This record gives sequence, C-alpha cells and structure tokens, in this order.
Amino acid sequence: MSECIFCRIVQGMAPARVIYRDEEITAFHDINPQAPVHILIIPNRHITSVACIEPGDANTLGRLFLVARQLAEQENITDGYRIVVNSGRMAGQSVYHLHMHLLGGRRLSWPPG
Ligand code: AMP
Repeated sequence: MSECIFCRIVQGMAPARVIYRDEEITAFHDINPQAPVHILIIPNRHITSVACIEPGDANTLGRLFLVARQLAEQENITDGYRIVVNSGRMAGQSVYHLHMHLLGGRRLSWPPG
C-alpha cells in the first residue's frame, strides 16, 4: 500500500470527502479547514512538490486550475477565493504530494502568514 496519504485517498484506500474525481485529478475537503470552503485539488499521479514537476505534467497541472474554477462556482465562492500551493519546508508544505488549496467563503487577508 502507498505510504502517501493523498495517494491512498486517490486509490480509495483512505477516507476523504471527495467532491471531484477524474482520470487525472481528485479534489476533496481539507481535514482541517482554514476557511468555510477549503478544498484540496491534486494530481492522481504522485508528484512530490512543485520542485519535482516536469514538462510532461503541464497539461494536468493546467487542468488543476480548471477544476478549481469549476469547484469555486459549485461552492458559490466566485466573489473571491485564493489558490495556494505550498512548496517545501519553509513554505509549510506538510504533505509531499503536490496539492492546490482552494480557499474561500470569508475575507482573506494579505500578505499571508
Ligand atoms: P500543506 O501544508 O500545504 O502541505 O497542506 C496539507 C493539507 O492537507 C493541510 O491543510 C491538511 O489539513 C491537509 N490534510 C492532511 N491530511 C489530510 C487528509 N487525510 N484528508 C484531508 N486533508 C488532509
């Protein structure tokens, strides 16, 4: 079994509130939400972080944004949302399977912490 919790979610081997799934991408609610809407959108294929992306990943990575837009509409947060990708220890990445955070449903301050 995969060591990676997000790979296990993709495989249906770990519980998650999945709200989108196709052959390349899975999206599910964050277990520790930082906003009324906090969704993680991930490539099904294990990519450790932005530091490890390759040219062949470009289509899938672009599609993460299309799924984010679709979910933002579905979740009624089109008045403003934030997409975050933490990459590496100093940025606070805690799960080493590339993921896009989609946050919305409240006013989001800037700069982030
Ligand atoms: P990051 O700190 O950018 O690596 O974000 C990892 C995110 O994954 C955090 O917001 C966690 O709350 C979330 N997370 C970790 N494990 C799970 C899980 N099993 N299901 C859903 N979200 C998770």
